[in-house]
Amino acid sequence: MTADLHTHSRFSDGTQSPAELLAEAAASGLSAVGLTDHDTTAGWHAGACAAAAEGIGLVRGMEVSCRWEGISVHMLCYLHEPEGAEITATITAAREARVVRSRTIVERIAEDHPVSWADVLEIAGPEATIGRPHIADALVRAGVVPDRTAAFADLLASRGRYYVPLPVISPLDAVRMIHEAGGAAVFAHPRASARGMVVPMRGMREIIEAGLDGLEVDHRDNPPDERVRLRRLAQESGLLVTGSSDYHGAGKPNRLGEHTTARDQLMRLIERTDGVPALGV
Ligand code: AMP
Ligand code: FE
Ligand code: FE
Ligand code: ZN
Repeated sequence: MTADLHTHSRFSDGTQSPAELLAEAAASGLSAVGLTDHDTTAGWHAGACAAAAEGIGLVRGMEVSCRWEGISVHMLCYLHEPEGAEITATITAAREARVVRSRTIVERIAEDHPVSWADVLEIAGPEATIGRPHIADALVRAGVVPDRTAAFADLLASRGRYYVPLPVISPLDAVRMIHEAGGAAVFAHPRASARGMVVPMRGMREIIEAGLDGLEVDHRDNPPDERVRLRRLAQESGLLVTGSSDYHGAGKPNRLGEHTTARDQLMRLIERTDGVPALGV
């Protein structure tokens, strides 16, 4: 049992369809994949069809954009029931706000570089949760930067002069809404300090108090010494521990299956949910 519980498809900022992603996962020997596109469940249907065809397990999820005291937090949500849930209305509003915000970033960059909103829309496609990675792709296409990484290092950096924050919910509300929908909430890459500020221990404790289910400990963006601390915190607080690649296809260097989640932890996660079932696990 080898499960990679955090991946992205073209329904957000990955570069593959769910079918391509699951075929690659099956070929590489993974037994289950978590499909966790940003602020959307639009890839679930294609994912479920592909998982059945490939004979691989699928844990349906999403990655909810949140902010705690000005600090960006990504909350992984697994196996919730989207139909009629407050979390669904919330991510739908977030996707709409992302359009306005992304357009503003593009207009700011366009004052200095050859990039247009039409390029970004074309690159993202009609169904994707739009975000900075699609703006990065437009900058690559225009020859302004060589790849997404270079775009994020400068023009799209959250500390940069073109940046516009996303209007998003607090992780405390996210945990509550995820539970109301029968899902489990796992704090994604909690110590990803290279991306920007990380939530201090006071905030971690607040989010844990709100009922957090798990911590994504094994992730390339958590420095190794921080993983030791996170594992200890999970143990003390009765949280489950996940590991995952955060694969984005060609959009990031992360390799599918570079970190995985232990079978007993996946089973604990599934037991905590009563939304949609894990498929083929
Ligand atoms: P946004 O949600 O629009 O603020 O964009 C954040 C997204 O950009 C995250 O989901 C990351 O996957 C992606 N991202 C952040 N840093 C990088 C990077 N250095 N290279 C490629 N993608 C990145
Ligand atoms: Fe992403
Ligand atoms: Fe993330
Ligand atoms: Zn992610």
